[in-house]
Parts: sequence; C-alpha cells; structure tokens
Amino acid sequence: MDLCEQSPSYIRAIAPYQPGKPISELAREMGLAEKKIVKLASNENPFGASPRAKAAIKGELAQLARYPDGNAFELKEALSRKYGVPQECIVVGNGSNDLLELVAAAFLTPGRAAVYSQHAFAVYPLATQARGAEGIVVPAKNYAHDLEAMLAAITLETRLVFIANPNNPTGTFATGAELENFIANVRRDVAVVVDEAYFEYLPAHLRYDCVALLRKHPNFIVTRTFSKVYGLAGLRVGYGLMHPSVADLLNRVRQPFNVNSLALAAAAAALEDRKFVAKSAKMNRSGLERLERGLKALGLETIPSFANFITFRTSRAKTVYEKLLRLGVIVRPLAGYDMPDHLRVTIGTPKENEKFLKALRTALDD
Ligand SMILES: *Cc1c(COP(=O)(O)O)cnc(C)c1O
Repeated sequence: MDLCEQSPSYIRAIAPYQPGKPISELAREMGLAEKKIVKLASNENPFGASPRAKAAIKGELAQLARYPDGNAFELKEALSRKYGVPQECIVVGNGSNDLLELVAAAFLTPGRAAVYSQHAFAVYPLATQARGAEGIVVPAKNYAHDLEAMLAAITLETRLVFIANPNNPTGTFATGAELENFIANVRRDVAVVVDEAYFEYLPAHLRYDCVALLRKHPNFIVTRTFSKVYGLAGLRVGYGLMHPSVADLLNRVRQPFNVNSLALAAAAAALEDRKFVAKSAKMNRSGLERLERGLKALGLETIPSFANFITFRTSRAKTVYEKLLRLGVIVRPLAGYDMPDHLRVTIGTPKENEKFLKALRTALDD
C-alpha cells in the first residue's frame, strides 16, 4: 500500500518483538486445558502478585472514572523513601520498557548511535531503530557484556549505551566495580542506561549502590520494574532513577498519563511488601539451583544465571521447544537473540520446575 511506503525505511525494517507464547494461545492450538499448562517463558513471578498489591487495586476501583495522577506522587514518594533520592530524580513508566523508549526518544535521532551487547535484551535494538539511530552491537564475551569492548565501541555519534544487569536472556552479571569503572570512562554526553529488571533477585553480597553511582555520574540512568519479583507484569509499571535534568527531559516526551491508576496503587503497595519479595527471591534461589542440577543431570550445558531464569544449550533447541509445547510446557526459544541452540526457562514453583524437568527428559529422549 502507498501509505505504508511513506513510513521511514528504518520503521519498516523493524522486526516486531516476539513475546513468550501465552497460555490461552497454546490451549487453543493444542486443545489442552489451561490449568495443565506451565508457562516458564516470560520471567514472570510464579507466585503471582503481592497480596498487598491486590488489595490496593480493589481500593482503587471506585475511582476508575478518574484520570490517574500524572505525576505519580504516591508511588514516587514511596520510591523516594526507599532509595533516598528526591522525587525529581524519578520517572515512572508503563513498564520499564517505557523508560527505555523514553530515553531513546530523548537522546536518539537519525545519524546518532546506541551501543549494546550481542545477546542483550531485545528492546534495545527496537528502541534504537524506532528513532532511526544506528545500533552498534558489541560481541558478547562468554555470553556476557564485554564492557571493555563496549567502551571502545562508543563513537562520536553515540549518545546512549544500554546495559542489562543481570542480562536477559543470558542471566549474566557485571559487578558494581566493573560498572563503575565503565561509567567513569564514558564521555559525559553519552547516557549509560543500566537496566536492572532482575536486581531484586541478586543475593545481598552482589548488590551495588546504584544511588551512589547516580550521585557521582549525571549521565547514569538506572531502570527497574514491577514486572518481575513484584509480580505485576500484567499491570505494566516500572521506573527510572536519574539526574533531575534528565528526568525533566523524559517527562517532556512521556505521555501525560503513562501509568494507569491501578498500576500506580499496586506498585506503591508492592514496594512495601518486603515479605513477599523476600519469599519470592528465596524460592527463586532454590528453584534456580534445582533447575541447574536437573539440567546438568540431563547432560545439558547451562549459562550461570543471576536472575529468575536459566538458559541452556541443546543443538535441537527448536524441536525440543516444540515437543515441550505438546507436553504443555512453554519455554523461550532464543533464535531471535542470536542463540539458536539455546532455550531459556523461567524458574517456576517447585511443582512447575519438576514438571518442566520431567517433560524435558521426555522431549530429549524421543
Ligand atoms: C523483563 C525485562 C524488563 C521489564 O520489562 P517491563 O516493561 O518492565 O515489563 C526490562 N528489561 C529486561 C532486561 C527484562 O528482562
């Protein structure tokens, strides 16, 4: 159609994001009961949402006819208290995906570039391409970000670097010292976005002080989400911490009501539910160990993970993925991440983990 040809070629060249297969879709395709399907494909919290978040949503229902608070005062207040940063340093988004897009909108144009790693989160190339900017993809080192090579890859045109820490879909992690060394060596006119979607899953000894990094480096931006450990993926809410003048820029390009009222209320309540977060992280750690052992016992090579999923290698990844679907287990194929011989599985409940391992044994056997 003529109209579509009027869209810039960089828009037409975008390959759409491939989400994990929804339970309802597999149920329709295979004639399976939804209850029998185990979805371990999108790194969601297998224990659901915090009960406090659910209660907060109920409390908000009476106000559905009203627009949400476009300044997200209460959620920012809760975040401000938790992290000890002023509200002016916080921007909330429709998922942290929104923040990644907002940063790209604020800094990228055709002719400029963003640097990110091979095997890094798929939204970085998407956000870059949507602005007509060049994506500079730096080869990974042992599946992890090669920060030295990323530093060397920054060009005069580069305005943005995306780092996922831990990374999805590889689960790899860069220490706080490595990150700090990286940021300290980046030009001040290049924004460094550290996407910490899985930060809450890190054991205490690996957590670094991102607020201290923010104070030292005005070009540092950290993004977090309520989609993973907080169990609110369906509501779409995340946030970024950054220098107030960068926050001011992002606030100019975001939609005035980019986070809905249910999400705002649930996120503020979830943030206070330490018990739920602690339990989710603890169960994740034991589940991760269980899956790692189980995968090794099947003779499969795994990438050591710091998140709520684990990625393993099998030369028959596509067949194994399809066989698992027939057995009612959804995992994530990674061909789109330049990893055609790997599959990623989210850590589930203990029962889901056993079901996955059993199904995988069957899928590998025949
Ligand atoms: C899941 C994930 C996100 C979170 O996306 P939301 O939009 O907040 O749901 C961000 N970054 C990475 C690396 C992720 O894996």
